[in-house]
Amino acid sequence: MSRIASVLLPMPLPEAFDYAEPEGMELVVGDQVAAPLGPRLLRGVVVALREGAGGNRPLKALDSKLDSPPLPPGAIEFVQWAARYSVDAPGQPLAIAIRGARAPKAKPHKLLEATGVTPARATPARQKVLEAAAGGPQTPADLARAAGVSAGVVKGLVEEGALALRLVEEPAAFPEPDLARAGHALNASQAAAAQALQAMVAEGGFNVALLDGVTGSGKTEVYLEAVAAALAKDPAAQVLVMLPEIALTQAVIARFVERFGVEPAEWHSDVAPPMRRRTWDAVATGAARIVIGARSALFLPFTHLSLIVVDEEHDGSYKQDEGFIYQARDLSVMRGKIEGAGVILASATPSLETLRNAETGRYRWLKLTSRHGTAQLPDITLIDLKATPPPSGRWLSPPLVDAMGQTLAAGEQTLLFLNRRGYAPLVLCKACGEKLTSPDTDSWLVEHRYSGRLVCHLTGFSMPKPDKCPHCGAKDSLTSIGPGVERVEEEARHLFPDARIAVFSSDTVWDAKEARRLVDAMADGEIDILVATQAAAKGHNFPKLTLVGVVDADLGLRGGDLRAAERTYQLLAQATGRAGRRDRPGRALLQTYAPEHSVMQALKAQDRDAFVEAEMAEREIMKLPPFGRLGAIVVSGPDAAALEAFAREMAKVAPNAEGVEVYGPADAPLALVRGRRRKRFLVRADRNVDLSAYLATWRARVRPPGAIRVAIDVDPYSFL
Ligand code: ADP
Repeated sequence: MSRIASVLLPMPLPEAFDYAEPEGMELVVGDQVAAPLGPRLLRGVVVALREGAGGNRPLKALDSKLDSPPLPPGAIEFVQWAARYSVDAPGQPLAIAIRGARAPKAKPHKLLEATGVTPARATPARQKVLEAAAGGPQTPADLARAAGVSAGVVKGLVEEGALALRLVEEPAAFPEPDLARAGHALNASQAAAAQALQAMVAEGGFNVALLDGVTGSGKTEVYLEAVAAALAKDPAAQVLVMLPEIALTQAVIARFVERFGVEPAEWHSDVAPPMRRRTWDAVATGAARIVIGARSALFLPFTHLSLIVVDEEHDGSYKQDEGFIYQARDLSVMRGKIEGAGVILASATPSLETLRNAETGRYRWLKLTSRHGTAQLPDITLIDLKATPPPSGRWLSPPLVDAMGQTLAAGEQTLLFLNRRGYAPLVLCKACGEKLTSPDTDSWLVEHRYSGRLVCHLTGFSMPKPDKCPHCGAKDSLTSIGPGVERVEEEARHLFPDARIAVFSSDTVWDAKEARRLVDAMADGEIDILVATQAAAKGHNFPKLTLVGVVDADLGLRGGDLRAAERTYQLLAQATGRAGRRDRPGRALLQTYAPEHSVMQALKAQDRDAFVEAEMAEREIMKLPPFGRLGAIVVSGPDAAALEAFAREMAKVAPNAEGVEVYGPADAPLALVRGRRRKRFLVRADRNVDLSAYLATWRARVRPPGAIRVAIDVDPYSFL
């Protein structure tokens, strides 16, 4: 009897395709196979096997089984669940799940080893090479160097058969964590939280805990104990720790090395393809027991996942809003449920969604209310920019400049926080008033001085800064409006010419190594003033950092979407939380035009609870998340009239359902991107409504014409 294999392909197809299993292939569910689709062979995953021969037409046969460990059942179930939740094709999350398996393997090393054959002519040089080769296989270059001879001598020995080539795969780089090592002695509240987490791990099964601790309270120390407990409980157990920034990954890896004596596996966009492949395989075979990674690590093929930690769980970078759209924090809870694993969400400023789950008892709630040791939370002062504005064309107000001077004189460090890359967010022509925008896109071009280019942060388009206005042709009329980090750096250099100043943004820190270098330089006191976007404002410990200056505290409040206040509070609490992490007291100065705003007042009073309470009350009245659900649909297309007609047709067929309201279609705030016009629908639903099912039903009722795309975002974070 032959068998039929259902194979999921990493493409936007609605379901798995059936293929005939060739004689002798002996597939199991999860196996990766090469499957013919049209003229191509695609890597796919077997998601089901059944006896049979297909219907009237013979099925196409699979081409081959690929040399990769199978995708475990939990990972397959997770992929299918995530697709259903996000109202997308299962091939989309599958593509993320098998990305590592598709990466090329590392080439084996070409080493030489002694064969025991005695060369015809035994010169002293040849003798030295053979002595060096006795130490084990080595590369030809290493052998020549060790023996102090030329490459020709080594080559001669190979030709005579005294040395032979051996291909050696790189050894597995995932040593077992050393569980006998002790962590730091915990203070009383840390110990209580650690015990509660250890109890959760000991209990086993699916459970979620919120580790809610102020910045510097030692959340990492506490969850390290939970990780140790999970690994000790079961010799096969695997742990995933997710972090929002590559810069932070490096620092947390160092803490894991200190605690467990070995490097954990690492997973993010900056890991080289051969290493990615090795890591993927090691996770699938269970050899990698601790993985530290970015959001996509959640799709790795864990076989014995027993604990997931989502550090800085409130962070916006857990939401991916292009391609396959997902929120990794929310999905981590689902993966935990599927795997029967514990989930720890850690933050000093938890999301309202998570706080709501803690308040209602769905999550355990563990609190750390003070910093570890003698460290104190910083003093926070609001600088009213209406009362003490910076001089014209400058961005740092006199009180902030004074504080920077004092900090510098005391030999301490300053962090200037501005969440804006580049030199200036807008370039304008003084002659005709034209604002320079990206071609075919509703977005200003951002001036970057280091590179001398104007860059669209939305599409990546860039061009050299012109010397004439492209609109009216006036010469030298282009003027830079507003500050980015590069401009603040320029001002700081002008004010403090002798200070050591650096910029930390995704333009100056392009990979994990560079991030580590800059973080280390800051931690070692080699920088006096660090001008940084959010890339450096999270999670780090800089012992000599005592002043945080927030250049534009109001920045995130403009535009005012659902989470503007929450996000601003979180970001600024994190940024100001970098100050005063050791014995030196810290302070934070927030420059604002709206000192009376509830977010600024809550930050000043360090009263998170009051802020959360007010924000929750507002969301509850409006029945918005976490008290209701939201979904967004963006329809886009190159032709305005065709898009308009399609959007209207779509509005007509919106399903009627109790507890669901549909708003739109309306022009999206970004109404034109890469030549495509965009319109949005917003759907609000009561909590008990299956919003994914609602959106899937709606989506199935329309057939968008070729050029029109429909993108669904369940629980949108961006409303542009
Ligand atoms: P959080 O993640 O809550 O901001 P961390 O875990 O990064 O805090 O801890 C802040 C700093 O305090 C780190 O440098 C950490 O090593 C140190 N620390 C925290 N708890 C302890 C402890 N029990 N013993 C020694 N150092 C600690």
